Amino acid sequence: MRVGVLGGGQLGRMLALAGHRLGFTFRFLDPSSDAPARRVGELVVGDWSDAGAIERFVSGLDLVTYEFENVPASAAHRIADETPVFPPVAALETAQDRLCEKALFNSLGIPTAPYAPVSSLAELEAAVDGVGAPGILKTRRAGYDGKGQARLGTARDTGAAWAALTQGASSAELIYERFVDFEREVSVVGVRSADGATAMYPLTRNVHAAGILRASFAPDGDGALERRAHAATRAVMERLRYVGVMAIELFVVRDASGASTLVANEIAPRVHNSGHWTIEGAVTSQFENHLRAIAGLPLGETSMVLPGAHAAMLNLIGATGPLAGTLAIPGAHAHLYGKQEREGRKVGHVTFVGTDPRVLEDRVRASAELCGQRLV
Ligand code: AMP
Repeated sequence: MRVGVLGGGQLGRMLALAGHRLGFTFRFLDPSSDAPARRVGELVVGDWSDAGAIERFVSGLDLVTYEFENVPASAAHRIADETPVFPPVAALETAQDRLCEKALFNSLGIPTAPYAPVSSLAELEAAVDGVGAPGILKTRRAGYDGKGQARLGTARDTGAAWAALTQGASSAELIYERFVDFEREVSVVGVRSADGATAMYPLTRNVHAAGILRASFAPDGDGALERRAHAATRAVMERLRYVGVMAIELFVVRDASGASTLVANEIAPRVHNSGHWTIEGAVTSQFENHLRAIAGLPLGETSMVLPGAHAAMLNLIGATGPLAGTLAIPGAHAHLYGKQEREGRKVGHVTFVGTDPRVLEDRVRASAELCGQRLV
């Protein structure tokens, strides 16, 4: 099986590491000549609009997938004319636009934060009036890790938030959403095969700081919430006729009666950072399951690696820290992506698996301290 991957980041690298065991070979298309996946497959360096590079990339491949969700849909369509592309390009297009994403959730009865599309300062003022404050103004497209977002405490902040995202332009494609006063953030990573079979990983609790995922803990432990989150993910996958791994990020909100409700935030049409713990913590990793799904192979089990097991993952952001020190922490599995260290950049992660979630939290805290990683 010769698999092409659009994007050559760490997600592509981990897909290839999982796929090599199945005998798959990989080719990546990425604008950067030092993309992290370059050491685990062939790398075609080229821009997404470079027809020659796309031609070289696609030649001889059995199928194509993506690890980067902002691949222009036009490039994915061009490739899909010649070679099967999974997940379907329509799913990519939906996930690329926060407005389409929210409309999809709502059409399936899945709650989201109240929101309004915004394309001018006047529309932003009306949106803040209608939706309420505090809130977050976001670019509809191409935002990631908290980039392309501006917070508004009150209606007085509209001018500053507009200027921060538009650099003074008079129109832009934005969305304003009400700030969700959540108790915690969770995500579901699920997989669907072409024949409609689905499998869901345990609900994962995620800790973000400054818009970037810092740590994940699984399973979250609330069985009723997990069943609802799984049902929502299945509904989204079915609507999109999805094939492959998808993640949905959700907020857990406590209502006045103390009951937990779920508010959907966004869809990632690919393997996801909050599923990295599945490499050591689940029977089948999200990377292997994505490849199984797109290659038409049976899906692997998504349960914890052993009954009663817990997993915790710490992202290494900006710097990997001392590898020997990390590996001296009992049970640490270090994954370094071979990227240049730079502020705010994901350069690796560490996973711990065990039976006592408090011990895992302590180990995550110890490695965060050692590697200079913030958790709040
Ligand atoms: P996003 O790019 O939409 O995933 O946002 C990144 C992070 O910002 C989320 O994981 C949350 O921690 C926070 N965030 C985004 N939207 C909201 C919201 N409407 N209310 C509260 N926090 C949010």
